[in-house]
Parts: sequence; structure tokens; C-alpha cells
Amino acid sequence: MTNFTDLNLSEPLLRALTAEGYEKPTPIQAQSIPSLLAGKDLLGIAQTGTGKTAAFALPILQKLAAHPERAAKGTCRALILSPTRELAAQIGESFRVYGKFLKVSRAVVFGGVSLGKQIDILRGGVDVVVATPGRLVDLIERKALTLSKVEIFVLDEVDQMLDLGFIHAIRKITGMLPSHRQNLFFSATMPKEIAGLANNLLTDPVRVEVAPVATTAERVNQSVIHVDPANKAKLLAELLKDNNMTRTLVFTRTKHGADKVMKHLSNAGFTAAAIHGNKSQNNRERALAGFKAGKVLVLVATDIAARGIDVDGVSHVVNYDLPHVPESYVHRIGRTARAGADGSAIAFCTPEDRGLLRDIEKTIRTQVPVAEHALGLKGVQQLAPTFGWNPAGKDKPAAKPHHRGQKPNRNHSAGNGQGKPQGQKPQGQHQPKRDGGNAGGAQAPKRTGSSGSWMSELGKRQG
Ligand code: AMP
Repeated sequence: MTNFTDLNLSEPLLRALTAEGYEKPTPIQAQSIPSLLAGKDLLGIAQTGTGKTAAFALPILQKLAAHPERAAKGTCRALILSPTRELAAQIGESFRVYGKFLKVSRAVVFGGVSLGKQIDILRGGVDVVVATPGRLVDLIERKALTLSKVEIFVLDEVDQMLDLGFIHAIRKITGMLPSHRQNLFFSATMPKEIAGLANNLLTDPVRVEVAPVATTAERVNQSVIHVDPANKAKLLAELLKDNNMTRTLVFTRTKHGADKVMKHLSNAGFTAAAIHGNKSQNNRERALAGFKAGKVLVLVATDIAARGIDVDGVSHVVNYDLPHVPESYVHRIGRTARAGADGSAIAFCTPEDRGLLRDIEKTIRTQVPVAEHALGLKGVQQLAPTFGWNPAGKDKPAAKPHHRGQKPNRNHSAGNGQGKPQGQKPQGQHQPKRDGGNAGGAQAPKRTGSSGSWMSELGKRQG
């Protein structure tokens, strides 16, 4: 398997990746970075969650830093177009993180905020501009920026851009680019119209296609139970009375939490073991062997300890604590439903963790339904009465997946075999915001800076 060091990335980038805790390149990174460093155009069929941002940000940073002449006034050297303000902010943040040991300046510009500061910054010249199309055209028309010096042009999430009606803005922008440049084109889907656009834009591109992260999520019967933190341990013990939970992996956020859960379960009469970094290798191996052999019913683990676990036949994954990084959720639930088998994932969501659940739902582009099957159990009803259990809401229609073309999730376990509507909308949930609209109440995903933070970052040359 490829390492970052095999990709010819420079030392300051490798250092930043280590600081971020990235160990290995994702498939799209391994497949794209060498060609991009060699100056090739790229057609990437991939969606968010695959690591596509680093796949283009790393080679762009490396190429710009290799020729460190400052962008001339009113110009930029790399231009990245994003359909939404959220994605633009995320991309800008990625450039900040990966480029923190390099002197590459950047600006993120999108609509809904005042033009004045953006104009000032762009007039000064910026190496990397990340922009939503409408605002960029506006800024160009106001003579804040010309595109005549763009060396690298990235169109990200093209299918979203077309959905949002940005095709005219894109045409206008591409018409202003110099003819000699490197082009990168990313889209999760490749219908004819988009393939045509790619064909016009790209010259002899390398084509990289990666499976969406969501495929894991689609295979697993996911559900969520809204629960008060004080009731989590009892709730888990109640759920485990279900005979279908034959081999259950429970994730906690901390080592201490893993021990506590394990003790609670042992006291409740379940064979449980915990694995985490504080346990000796022997101890971990014993726990794992017991789990594999079916002697240990429940294995409680932290994300790091679970990395090496490769156990088939995990019937259930319980997210006892929701992870702070949405992708961890996908990795966790991917421990079940392996090799075509069925599997279920149950998440516990406390009121404080609602934001984490929303981030997860954005990443998997699906709303996780409330576990009505589990909530039908009397003991569970008593433990999770406030959040999610509302018999009056039972007839409401099923939660819809957010994303077009996405399969709806199957319900958790066998509780709803008649195709009945399931799951009322949990309180406080909302649809992910996919437009470049108003900054107002939009909550930026965890890994992005706040929507206003671009201003403080703008124009700053680091190092
Ligand atoms: P993206 O698909 O670009 O939105 O990235 C998805 C998430 O994966 C982001 O939170 C990145 O920080 C993270 N990520 C990207 N590349 C890696 C990697 N090689 N190792 C670990 N995490 C990564």
C-alpha cells in the first residue's frame, strides 16, 4: 500500500500531514497526486469523504511553493470553484492546514457577505482563490481580479454546481482563463451533460474513480436513539437483551469511557471486554480472541484501539458516543455488514451531540432514522422517553434520504417488516445546506472554520 512518502510530496507537506494524523493516502490521493504533480489534467469521479480535497490541495500547494513568486496584484495562481459556501470554506481550511509550513496565500470568497473586503484582498494578489461561481463573476466584473494568470483551475462538485444553476457562470469563468493551464474536474456523478463539459475543459486527463464512502453507510441498517447521557449505560444493557445482538462492537470516545461501559455491562451480567491504548497487548489479544470465538458478547473499544480489529460476523455496532469526526462514524459502522452480510448500527445521541449527528448525516447524505424497533422495547421506552419516542408521531412518513439518487436506509433490525412508515423526525434536525446562500444561521461543519473566518485568514502570508 502506498505511503505519503511514495508520492513525492515535499517535506513541509509531509510534516503537515503528520501533524493532522494522516497515516496513509486515501485511494483518490494515491491515484491522483503523482499525475497532478506531473502536470496532467484530471477527471475525478468522487464525492466528499473520499479525501478528494487533499488530493488536489497537496499537489497545488507543492507546485505553487516550488515557484514562489508572489501572485501579481489583482491576480491568482490557482482557482478553485465550489458550488457552496460551506464547501468553499472547507477547501480554504484544508489549504490552511496542509499549507501551514509553506508560504502560499489564499482567499475564500462567496456570496452573502460584503464585497468590500473581498475586493481589497483580491486586488492585493492571492496565490489560491477558492470561490463560489456567482460571487467570483461579480468580483471580476468589479475589477478586483483577473484570471489571466491562473496556472491551475479546479472545478469541484460539478454535479452540484449544475444543479444549482451555475453553468453560465462557469462558462463565463472558463472563457476568461488563459489557454495554458492545468485543469482538475471533480464530480460525484457523470451524466452526459457533465461528461460533455469535462470533455471540453480537459486535455488528455487522467481519470480517477473511487467508490463513495456512502456505500458502507448504505449497506448497514442504521438507526439512532435520542437519549439522556445519564441513561446511556442502562439503555445499552436493555438493547443487549435482544437475541439478535450476537456480536456487538461498542464505540466510546475515551479509554475511561470504554472501561466504565465494560464494567456496567459486566455487572449487568453480560460477557464484555474493553480494548484501548492503556491495555497491554496480551490483554487486547485475549479480548479480541474471545470476541472472535463468540465467548465475549460485547467488545467496547475506542477508535484507535479498533483500528486493527478485523472480525467477521459483527452483528451490531453501537456508537455509544458519537465521534467528533463524521468519517469515523462511517469507519465504525463499516465493522458490521462485512462481506455482503447484514449488519446494524445504533447510535446514541444526547442533546449535546445533535450537532455531531447532523455532521454525520451530511457526510453520509442520509438522515439516520430513529430506532423504532428498539424504542418499542419497554425497557428502552423508559430510558429514552424524551428524545425520539413519540407514539403520536408514529404515523408520520419515513425520514427521506437527503441526497438524490441515494437509497433510503433500511430500518434497524427486523422490527418493521411490513414496510410501514418509520421514524419521526428527531428534534433539531435539518437538511444539509447545499447552496451558496446566506451565512445567517448556517452552522458550518465541524472541520471548517466558521463562515466568517475567511476574512481573518485572507491575505495573510504564513511562515
Ligand atoms: P474530503 O473528501 O476531501 O472532504 O475529506 C474527507 C475527510 O477525510 C476530511 O475530514 C479530511 O480531513 C480527511 N482526510 C483526507 N485525507 C485523509 C487521509 N489520508 N487520512 C486521514 N484522513 C483524511
